[in-house]
Amino acid sequence: MNPFTVRLFRYHPEHDDQPWSQDVEVDGSFRNRMVLDVLEHLKTRDTTLVFRRSCREGVCGSDGLNINGRNALGCITPVEEALGNKDLLEIRPLPGMPVIRDLVVDQSLFFEQYKRIQPWLINNKPAPGIERLQSPEDRAKLDGLYECILCACCSSACPSWWWNPEKYIGPSGLLQAHRFLQDSRDTATAERLEKLQDPFSVFRCRGIGNCTAYCPKGLNPMKAIGRIKEMLFREGV
Ligand code: SF4
Ligand code: SF4
Repeated sequence: MNPFTVRLFRYHPEHDDQPWSQDVEVDGSFRNRMVLDVLEHLKTRDTTLVFRRSCREGVCGSDGLNINGRNALGCITPVEEALGNKDLLEIRPLPGMPVIRDLVVDQSLFFEQYKRIQPWLINNKPAPGIERLQSPEDRAKLDGLYECILCACCSSACPSWWWNPEKYIGPSGLLQAHRFLQDSRDTATAERLEKLQDPFSVFRCRGIGNCTAYCPKGLNPMKAIGRIKEMLFREGV
């Protein structure tokens, strides 16, 4: 198999005035591997390369990257698929967030927005002896929502979030908001909706759908946002 070129975004704030690109040739056998395997291999050749990773199974959400122009998880993105008919694999940090070093971005604002939606069950009724039960139908309402791994691939692809990361919650946080609005065990629906009722938190979504196109777990943040908008209109909060 033919070798191919990996183009890496490099930036070390203590040594570099500005980011630069590094082209490295990689053996063709890596065409059958995942993008994260390529990065691990390159790190053995240059230990100064920095990137995040943890589980390598598409569960921890640590290695969100921009790979040949698409946000994705390095660990579950096959090199062959990312290359398409090219011999160039360009790996950049997730867009829309400040770069700390090389492929690592500062996700502080992303998690601030996550905190804003109060990602926990709110229910002040005394807890039953064993657990708060749900019917199978109510539990099914959480499908397509609870699977989010907070990788930020969606929010980082959202132009509305790039421009207003302090005020617009973004697709990831809003998918999570919808998850708790849907939960039959949560009793804070009205308060949750009230906190979302302003021009920025939800309504900066312009329905472009980059979020849904890039979610590596196949989730649909755009649909979840649409449901929240419906609830806000219906409740007239
Ligand atoms: S649909 Fe909304 S949340 Fe998704 S990328 Fe577009 S503006 Fe952002
Ligand atoms: S909705 Fe998808 S892309 Fe967005 S943070 Fe969750 S898993 Fe990642």
